[in-house]
Amino acid sequence: MFEKVLIANRGEIALRINRACHDLGIKTVAVHSTADARAMNVRLADETVCIGPPPPRASYLNIPAILSAAAITGADAIHPGLGFLSENAEFARAVEEHGFVFIGPSPEHIRVMGDKVRAKAEAVRLGIPVVPGSPGALRDVASAQAAAHEIGYPVLLKASAGGGGRGMKLAHNDAELAQLLPLAQSEAMAGFGDDSVYLERYLARPRHIEVQLLGDGQGTVVHLGERDCSLQRSHQKILEETRSPALDDAIRERLTSTAVGAMEKFGYRSAGTIEFLYQDGEFFFIEMNTRLQVEHPISEMISGVDMVREQLRIAAGEPLGFGQRDIAFNGHAIECRINAERPDDFRPSPGRISEYHAPGGLGVRVDSALYQGYEVPPYYDSLISKLIVYDTTRERCLSRLRRALAEYVITGIETTIPLHQRIVENADFQAGKYDIHWLERFLAQRG
Ligand code: ADP
Repeated sequence: MFEKVLIANRGEIALRINRACHDLGIKTVAVHSTADARAMNVRLADETVCIGPPPPRASYLNIPAILSAAAITGADAIHPGLGFLSENAEFARAVEEHGFVFIGPSPEHIRVMGDKVRAKAEAVRLGIPVVPGSPGALRDVASAQAAAHEIGYPVLLKASAGGGGRGMKLAHNDAELAQLLPLAQSEAMAGFGDDSVYLERYLARPRHIEVQLLGDGQGTVVHLGERDCSLQRSHQKILEETRSPALDDAIRERLTSTAVGAMEKFGYRSAGTIEFLYQDGEFFFIEMNTRLQVEHPISEMISGVDMVREQLRIAAGEPLGFGQRDIAFNGHAIECRINAERPDDFRPSPGRISEYHAPGGLGVRVDSALYQGYEVPPYYDSLISKLIVYDTTRERCLSRLRRALAEYVITGIETTIPLHQRIVENADFQAGKYDIHWLERFLAQRG
C-alpha cells in the first residue's frame, strides 16, 4: 500500500479522499490555491503545498505545479478526485511518466470515454444499447439534417468533448438545426477546445439512471447498484437516490449485468459509472465517467463498500478480493446536493459562514468541508455540502431526510436547503414519480 498520497482537488471531495487515506494509515498531501489556504481538507492533511492563485487554470489545473508538489513531498500516488484533472488523460499519463501512481483508470480508458462520439462507438462494441444518433461528429448542416431525418425530430446537439451538462441544444426541425449547429460548434470550441458536435434523439421523459462499477484491472468487475439522478436543473444533478423507484428487479438485473459485462470486456480498472437514460422499459447509454462521482456516497450506504478505499487498494495493485455475491444491498439512500446558491434564482452565494451546525444521528452522513467562520470562495463550483441519508426503506429514508434537513444550520450565505425541503414535501417525489424534466416543471409552477 502507498505511504503518501497527494490529493489533487479541493473542498468536500478532497476531504473525502483524505479520510479514506487516513483510515488506511496513508499520509496525505493537500495541494491548494491561495484562496483555499484555510480549507478544512488542507487543515486535516499531513502536508500542504500551495500551488498557485485562485483561478483553476493557475492552480488545480496546473499540471507542472501538481507534479512538483508530489516530487517535493515524496508522494507515491496522486488521487485526482472529480472535476478538474480527473478525466484528463494527459494528466494521468504525465503522473505515470513522472513515476507516480495515478489513482484511477488507465489513460487510454480515460481518453476513449472522454470523447463522447468515441465512447458511444465503444459502448456499441461492448454490447450496450445507445441513444439513436448521428454515426459520428457532424460535418455540415446537410449531413446533420440527414441524420436528424433518420432518427426523427426533436434532436439534441451535444459537444463530443462536453461535460457538466453544458452546451446541449434542442432542435425541433431543419430550420432550427441549421441555425443551432454552427452555434453549438463554436460554443464547443470555446468551452471544451474541440468543435466536434453530434446529435441524438431527444427523449421526452426519460429518467437518468446510472450504474456504479468497480474493476480491479485483473479480471474482476462488480457493480454497486444503480443510482437515479433524474432530479436535475439545467442538466445538473440536484438530488440522487438508490435504489431507483422506477426499476423492477428484472430490469435492474438487465441494466447492471449489461454494465458489468461491458466493463469486463473493456478490462476496466478503478471506479467508474455508466450513465443511461431509461424510458418505457428501455435503457440507452449516454456516457461513461471514468472517475469518482459526486453522488458515490449513496452507493456506499446501501452496499457497505468504501469506494475510495477500493480505488486506493486497486491502484496499489491489490486484487478486489470480493465478487458480486459478496455484496449485499440493504435499504435506501438519498443525497441532497447543497449549493451556495440563492434558492430563488440559483445565483452563486459565496461568503463567510457565520453559524454552522450539521445534522447527525443514525443513518445521516454529511460530506462537507464547511465549518463556522469558513469563507466560501467565489472561484469554484458552488457545491458546499452533501447530505446523505440512509434508512431501511424509501419511506423511512424520506422521513429521516426531512428531519435532517430541518436540523441543518448554515447561515451567512444562502443555500439550496430550502429547495430540498420543498422537494421532500412534494407528492410526486414522495411517490417516486419524476423524470429528468420534473424539477424544471416544479420550479416553473412556483413562478
Ligand atoms: P454531460 O456530460 O454534459 O453531463 P450527459 O450526456 O451526461 O452530458 O447528459 C446530461 C443530462 O442531459 C442527462 O442526465 C439528461 O438529463 C440530459 N440528456 C442527455 N442526453 C439526452 C437525450 N438524448 N434526450 C434527453 N435528455 C438528454
